[in-house]
Amino acid sequence: MTTMIGLSLSGRSVVMVGGGAVTARRLERFLADGARVRVVAPEVGGDVARLIAEHRLVWTRRRFRAADVTGAWLVHTATGDPRTDDAVFAACERRQTPCVNAADGAHGSARLAAETRSGDVVVGVVSDASVDPRRAARLRDAIGALLRDGSLPLRRRRATAVGRVDLVGGGPGPADLMTVRGRRLLAEADVVVADRLGPTHVLAELDPEVEVVDVGKRPGHHPVPQDEINAIIVRHARAGKRVVRLKGGDPFVFGRGGEEVAACLAAGVAVEVVPGLTSVVSVPQSAGIPVTHRGTAAGLHVVNGQGELTSSTLAALADDTVTTVVLMGVAALPSIVAAALAAGAPTTRPVAIVESGHTPDQRTTRTTLATAVSDARGAGVTNPAVVVIGDVARADLLLPVPELTGDRTR
Ligand code: SAH
Repeated sequence: MTTMIGLSLSGRSVVMVGGGAVTARRLERFLADGARVRVVAPEVGGDVARLIAEHRLVWTRRRFRAADVTGAWLVHTATGDPRTDDAVFAACERRQTPCVNAADGAHGSARLAAETRSGDVVVGVVSDASVDPRRAARLRDAIGALLRDGSLPLRRRRATAVGRVDLVGGGPGPADLMTVRGRRLLAEADVVVADRLGPTHVLAELDPEVEVVDVGKRPGHHPVPQDEINAIIVRHARAGKRVVRLKGGDPFVFGRGGEEVAACLAAGVAVEVVPGLTSVVSVPQSAGIPVTHRGTAAGLHVVNGQGELTSSTLAALADDTVTTVVLMGVAALPSIVAAALAAGAPTTRPVAIVESGHTPDQRTTRTTLATAVSDARGAGVTNPAVVVIGDVARADLLLPVPELTGDRTR
């Protein structure tokens, strides 16, 4: 039988007998845990030698003697010689010191679990019976995948003294376009402060005890003012909660994430940012549009359609080597098109309007500056949409497969 225990090796003495590949692999783990490691071996392999050269461990350069295990808190033997490994184990048994014996078919009195980590959670796999490292590793990997995709109940049941805020970029919509880190933080959160855009359906999968605060914004209409959002995330974090501020796309692209970080810092609240796939790039991509393309577009200009049309935007619109991507641009389309034409862009300049990219409602309207406004109106284009102006928006750019996703393209 085996009892699995989470040992803290920090500052403890670990003696490793043998200097080969198995020792090297496990050494990393012990060192990462803060153990004081001594290797006993007449010679060592390259990986162990490197760690010795870096003074990360002590090397006793000779064959094993029983006295070597005296004072050790944990012993690991992997010499390749079963007789020596047996002798190490026997010496440990006399001293009641746990011993991992890596020799084939041997067990020692301790075994190392195949480990996987996610945040502060460590899951280990050991077998009670015969050793089967491949099976343990496969099982470990399968559990690790579940931990990372956020489908396991990672949320802390005990309140922590210190709350924190993570600004998580949720990408354009589908849960599997979120980052692994974002999924994990979401699974750990006590409070989720969410927008209207992005992967909103992951909210339905949250533990019922998780508090969801919807502060969704619509263009030209802000149900919860930004300073109130800042106050909400700070207040929950100060109450010891783990707060995820879930945002569509990337938190730092027209998401006012910078203001939220500043508010947390000003309040002395720990805050981190997890990047997300911004719609600037991923929404055109969903319609098969590369925002840069060798020989067609050498640069990218990104603007908020609700903002002012600056001289750099006018220059980008007039430059046929630059792609202009407009977010929140549906209402402003007529003025942007007029400005582009006035700045000297040709009426034939391709325009694509991609609505609800990466969702089942995705639709692309292909047009040109000449007819963009009437085509958008005719199609009833609505938010959320990304407007792409430039030659990359040509329908035949990537022929013979112009549409990579088979969306409902006009
Ligand atoms: N931080 C976000 C942008 C927020 S501004 C990001 O990095 O993507 C909101 C605008 O993003 C919308 O008005 C729209 O222009 C665009 N947008 C976000 N998700 C979209 C989607 N799935 N399809 C089309 N446009 C989207």
